Amino acid sequence: MAGDIALEWIDRNARDLVEMSDEIWRLAEIGLREFKSAALQATALEKAGFTIEMGVAAMPSAFVATWGKGSPVIALLGEYDSLPRTSQKPVPYRDPLVEGGAGHACGHNLLGVAAVGAALALKEEMESQGIQGTIKYMGCPAEETASGKVYMVRAGCLDGVDAALTWHSSSLNAVSMLSSLANRSVRFRFHGRTAHAAGNPEMGRSALDAVELMNIGVNYLREHVPSQARIHYVITDGGGEPNVVPDLAESWYYIRAPKAPQAKEIYERIVRIAKGAAMMTDTEVEVRFFGGCSNVIANLPLSEALHRNLLKVGPPKFTEEEKAFAKEMASHFPPGQKEGSLTMLAERGIDLSPYDLHESVLPLFKDRTAMPGSTDVGDVSWICPTSQFTTACNVIGSAGHSRQVTATSGMSIGHRGMIQAAKVLALTALDALLDPELVEKAKADFQQSLGKTTYESPVPPEIVEPVDPFQGKSH
Ligand SMILES: [Zn+2]
Repeated sequence: MAGDIALEWIDRNARDLVEMSDEIWRLAEIGLREFKSAALQATALEKAGFTIEMGVAAMPSAFVATWGKGSPVIALLGEYDSLPRTSQKPVPYRDPLVEGGAGHACGHNLLGVAAVGAALALKEEMESQGIQGTIKYMGCPAEETASGKVYMVRAGCLDGVDAALTWHSSSLNAVSMLSSLANRSVRFRFHGRTAHAAGNPEMGRSALDAVELMNIGVNYLREHVPSQARIHYVITDGGGEPNVVPDLAESWYYIRAPKAPQAKEIYERIVRIAKGAAMMTDTEVEVRFFGGCSNVIANLPLSEALHRNLLKVGPPKFTEEEKAFAKEMASHFPPGQKEGSLTMLAERGIDLSPYDLHESVLPLFKDRTAMPGSTDVGDVSWICPTSQFTTACNVIGSAGHSRQVTATSGMSIGHRGMIQAAKVLALTALDALLDPELVEKAKADFQQSLGKTTYESPVPPEIVEPVDPFQGKSH
């Protein structure tokens, strides 16, 4: 049966895939510095005969691996960046592996390796069955910080791709068509003039005043943006000490909205507020762009195919030991955390509260509204039909970007979800390779969703390569 060779390959090579994932988990390299993690994946693909293009889109840890020829061209998206200060041993209570170190608190070690496994398995099946088409594994760096895919899209890495598939570790086995928020990450650095704050205040021009006035301006703006928009900031530099009028102060904003053009408009209004604050305080503002991504455009035919294959492959089956681990981890959650994470499902009449690990598959939800997070998968979804799913790799009720996720991403609970994900990706890519009608339907749905809107990169043209916001800091 179609897919048997790919599935068999994944089972036979599961141990190697788990080892690669654990190695990337231990390395825990943060965005734009995932050199070893990218090399591990690229080497495995190269050994199998894929052509590797390393360092695409001006990012040394970005690569494209290609095998096969002709159409259709199916892309599998992978990631491998970690998150600062989330290091954790694979135990159910707080115990960092490296105190203050980075960790895979978003499970991207699992994410990339499942897609690599799917690409390798597909190649086996295509080769032995003489299946026509091209597979591309996209090694996408810095999802968490610089939104690497946005730069890969801009560099043309996704051009000519007929369909893109990806997944993410989660506590649930599901295909959801929910969208995400478009996002801009930008810092506003104000330059003023120092002076003795008591002796000669009239000589000073406070950059901190500008930061504060800008924030007040933005707080008034909040009433006049779409209700699902999110604007959040931190003050990254507030001056040195109170008796010196600060000549340098900086804030870092994330600006999110359901649609990319809305995020752009709010961003432009906030830039004007920053200029206004500079004018009020007689300071200069420097706008420092750090990244941005577009909202996800879901694709119904591809989502249906993923859901069909998720049901076929089935959810991960966990051992009694793993269930006991999950139960203990859940016992450390703050009160209400688990219930809060299940609200959306409870509203749909699905009660998972008695469980700590998900061992079934949720129905396909076709709701396309935006969730309050952002992902650079969004930009890929503006270029070609794109769909994504999740498998259970985490304990139900785990907070996103938490040590709880780091823990399960480096042990058998995460491994099981990753292997199932590799199988679902491989089978769905195979469907797209064997069924031209699926690709046609996916493209029609994509065109319909786009309508008359055209894609505009959230990255201004003058930014030639991504900026590392943590430059100079070690993690
Ligand atoms: Zn993630």
